[in-house]
Amino acid sequence: MGRRRPIEGDAALREASAPREAGGASQLRIGAHVSIADGVTGAVRTALSLGGNTFQFFTRNPRGGGAKALDPADLERGLTLAARHDVLPVAHAPYTVNLISAKPEVRSFARRTVAEDLERAGAMGSPFLVLHPGSHQGAGVEAGLKMLVDQLRPILDAPGDTQLLLETMAGSGSEVGFALEQLASVLEGTGAPSRLGVCGDTCHLWAAGYELAGEGLDRFLDRLDAVIGVKRLRAFHLNDSRFGRGSHKDRHAGLGEGEMGLDLLRGVVCHPRLAGVPFLLETPQDLDGYRREIALVKSFCPG
Ligand SMILES: [Zn+2]
Ligand SMILES: [Zn+2]
Repeated sequence: MGRRRPIEGDAALREASAPREAGGASQLRIGAHVSIADGVTGAVRTALSLGGNTFQFFTRNPRGGGAKALDPADLERGLTLAARHDVLPVAHAPYTVNLISAKPEVRSFARRTVAEDLERAGAMGSPFLVLHPGSHQGAGVEAGLKMLVDQLRPILDAPGDTQLLLETMAGSGSEVGFALEQLASVLEGTGAPSRLGVCGDTCHLWAAGYELAGEGLDRFLDRLDAVIGVKRLRAFHLNDSRFGRGSHKDRHAGLGEGEMGLDLLRGVVCHPRLAGVPFLLETPQDLDGYRREIALVKSFCPG
């Protein structure tokens, strides 16, 4: 059927990955998760004040469900500012969204929210919507992944070009998506549409057991390329981890303040195969802390 994964050199996929190449593949994109309380304009201003050229934001209250109506004047101002300073917004869906919940009403809320937030993300200037694959709550990983495919199909079949990025998870509780093969099975099950991609998270991958230092990183990227296609990795959360490798605990630490350490994180940021992928801090920092970490990351890669 010609729609199987991974589709190396697929023209549609290349086109879909254009945002990561904006400004040249070698340009470092670094920013932090910021509040959207003062609209897109406020978020872009905050991102710039931190010294970043990207930022992440929640499409709506991360722990509630309601979404404020978008303000056209704010969008106009914010997106103009972002374009002028070449700042890339990256949208993240709320944590309450669980497409594979055991409760049907939670699943239907999740379907509606993801569909709506794909549109909201696009309107807010983000080419992506980052989504946690969800927690199966006892059904088992395999059944959870199957349900995820069924839930995603109608969402991905709807018109629109905002890409949905499934995040790599730590595998805490009954989370699915903590192994590359699990995400690959979702890609395969949905027919690997060009608008479905992956968002990495250094802390989650480490907690899931992946070795990301030295040759371990090369092995990880080879595996990623083999089962998913490295081109589908469109964003990367940059976090240290409070707990050890394989702990399956999702606890972020400041860069160099956790078990992963600066050398490992530098290796990820500067790896040539990840050039152009936006890196987003979700570390437990205030704005001054983010400012320091962004400056630190900018000093990572020579040249
Ligand atoms: Zn996330
Ligand atoms: Zn996390």
